[in-house]
Amino acid sequence: MIGSIASVQRLAYLAAAMLFIFSLRGLSTQETARRGNASGILGMVLAVAVTAFALRGSMAGAAGASGADAWGLLAGGIAAGAAIGAVLASRVAMTSMPELVAILHSFVGAAAVLVGLANYLEASAEASSAVHAVEIVVGVFIGAVTFAGSVVAFGKLRGTLGSKPLLLPGRHLFNAILMLGCVVLGGMFLSVPSPGALWALLGITALACVLGAHLVLAIGGGDMPVVVSMLNSYSGWAAAAAGFMLSNDLLIVTGALVGSSGAILSIIMCRAMNRSIWNVIFGGFGAAPASSAGGKVTPAGPVQEASAQQVADMLAAARSVIVVPGYGMAVAQAQHPVKELTTLLQKRGTKVRYAIHPVAGRLPGHMNVLLAEADVSYELVKEMDEINEDFGDTDVTIVIGANDIVNPSALTDASSPIYGMPVLEVWKSAKVVMMKRSMNAGYAGVDNPLSYRDNTVMLFGDAKATVTKLVAALQAATSEAA
Ligand code: NDP
Repeated sequence: MIGSIASVQRLAYLAAAMLFIFSLRGLSTQETARRGNASGILGMVLAVAVTAFALRGSMAGAAGASGADAWGLLAGGIAAGAAIGAVLASRVAMTSMPELVAILHSFVGAAAVLVGLANYLEASAEASSAVHAVEIVVGVFIGAVTFAGSVVAFGKLRGTLGSKPLLLPGRHLFNAILMLGCVVLGGMFLSVPSPGALWALLGITALACVLGAHLVLAIGGGDMPVVVSMLNSYSGWAAAAAGFMLSNDLLIVTGALVGSSGAILSIIMCRAMNRSIWNVIFGGFGAAPASSAGGKVTPAGPVQEASAQQVADMLAAARSVIVVPGYGMAVAQAQHPVKELTTLLQKRGTKVRYAIHPVAGRLPGHMNVLLAEADVSYELVKEMDEINEDFGDTDVTIVIGANDIVNPSALTDASSPIYGMPVLEVWKSAKVVMMKRSMNAGYAGVDNPLSYRDNTVMLFGDAKATVTKLVAALQAATSEAA
């Protein structure tokens, strides 16, 4: 009977692991993303249900508690966690999603540390194997780095901590000393008979927390997206380490899937941003000091301001238009009026496309999600590499709440913190309209020379309100012409 229950559990774990793989596959394109999400949800429900059944048995056995008590404890924990998660997820704005993702990564890290400590305290009563002790040290180390790094990333994305990198003199030596300290404490942990080595484990936790926080503090400006996907990868490895400590095969497989897919995403993002992955892993290794950071910058010269009516006239006369959405479109929730504007232009016979930079907004795929929500056809949405050459043949490019991703100094100014990052070369089009509220900088905190170019006009105001005005003016022009 016990054998057949174990076989059912193994089969269910295999099914859940396959559903997670289908989920990753589905999430790789917009058309199949919903199906991918559904597979992930189904896999997770199966995984939680089977693990709960398995745990209930061991809890009842270990604590001498009745089956009903064990069920009560599990159901209480799951219900409380699910309620908090559901409330947080339903309240979070799309613009705050990266912060939520960062703080969720920190939970995985904290869980790995707690599992390690609990595992050690539980096992110290009996003789514990050296392999298990190594699993605990590795799990606690990765968990603590992930936890502290994610908390700092949360602060940076929320704006509680500045986006400027903290580049301490001798910071790489400091990181090396912290690593060495963890290795020495790990050695001591393995050599001291249990249960006397708890202090070594707590020491590793403290040093790894300082290391994780320092690594992320050293990265700033436009490189934060890669840090977020890197922490996503670390959280996967932390979960896999917890799986080893708990001897849970599904947790090992799931953690490895998250860890490797996060690492692949980080490499892809580094390539897209022309950054070295080692720079990110080693906390700004080789990073140039940022020349400035923060929201406000002093404008370098006069700009040409246009009214909504003037921009509407410009659009009415254009044969081809490219829309470049950025973080400001997400803040203003302007995606629906933007879709209305482009539909109107298409009805007038104008060729319209959207240009998406890989790090536009504050989350990988942020703009794609917003445009999909507004029902924009996937065919109109072009990635940077597909569309960068077309700006030269475009009459008007409208930049809606974007800044760093269209900053020409990324290509021309070697002292800029975003130097080397490929950008959308919007200035090659005949006219550029920059829509934002003020002359404030973007996330990287650097001024944007695009604003001062002869072929650029600024249309100031909240993106949603301004695009709505443009729609009204263009509708009026269309009715007059009819
Ligand atoms: P930016 O942050 O560079 O610029 C956004 C601009 O939007 C600001 O200059 C702001 O100017 C304007 N804005 C804000 N609110 C509104 C509003 N309501 N209406 C109109 N405009 C508004 O965004 P980009 O998308 O150009 O670039 C993304 C940046 O974020 C990059 O540096 C990237 O590296 C970083 N990042 C990206 C992540 C990702 O995964 N995608 C994660 C973390 C960071 P003003 O205040 O004057 O209106």
